[in-house]
Amino acid sequence: MRKRIIAGNWKMYKTIDEAKNFAQEVKGKLIESEIVEAVICPPAPYLYELAEITKGYSIKIGAQTMHEEIEGAFTGEISPTMLSNLGVQYVIIGHSERRMYFNETDQSVNKKVKAAFESNLTPIVCVGESLEERESNKTVEIVSNQVTKAFLNRTGETIEKAVIAYEPIWAIGTGKTATADDANEVCHAIRNTVEELYGADVANKVRIQYGGSVKPENIEELLTKEHIDGALVGGASLDSNSFLKLIEAA
Ligand code: 13P
Repeated sequence: MRKRIIAGNWKMYKTIDEAKNFAQEVKGKLIESEIVEAVICPPAPYLYELAEITKGYSIKIGAQTMHEEIEGAFTGEISPTMLSNLGVQYVIIGHSERRMYFNETDQSVNKKVKAAFESNLTPIVCVGESLEERESNKTVEIVSNQVTKAFLNRTGETIEKAVIAYEPIWAIGTGKTATADDANEVCHAIRNTVEELYGADVANKVRIQYGGSVKPENIEELLTKEHIDGALVGGASLDSNSFLKLIEAA
């Protein structure tokens, strides 16, 4: 049985006070569960404070991106060890907004996945197709290729601990969700790709989230599907009540 994982990607939203209030509000309301894990990924300047506030509670903190090197002359960047030293446990890698606006490629995603594991961070590796790619029936090819390249030269023992987030680009922030069946079909294809590369045991353990306009109203149906193990949520994770509802639904 795979433990579900609901992660809130706050993107570039909230003031520090709003972020602290959110963490204070939700931390006491979440109980340790064998069924679901809750993660919030705030903007980088809030990571330390939120990791401190939530220490010892059933909510984990993730970063939205990181650099692949441990240290160096990379002005403005944040390294994997800096994150893990702050108490951060997850890191989103290769989000479509990073690929689109900040030139992240399958190659840089691959390096970051390696660096994340080496620093004891769990990568949430994002993959997904554009509307054009979906309309030309290339979804499975695109997504399988992204997964293969992200995990190139890694071992099965590391991959089984990773989280993969299937986020169709056309469903992000648009209010358009993939149907639960469509999302499940692609998540299944992702699991098959992992199986071809690393075997059935690893494929059965790796957790695959769906992301793209997930909200309390549609999460339940998505989670009834065999290959969907959770959600990576943008807009609907910004409000604490909505976030708690997402966790409850899981
Ligand atoms: P929305 O839930 O706002 O569509 O964003 C999805 C997303 O990009 C999460 O990483």
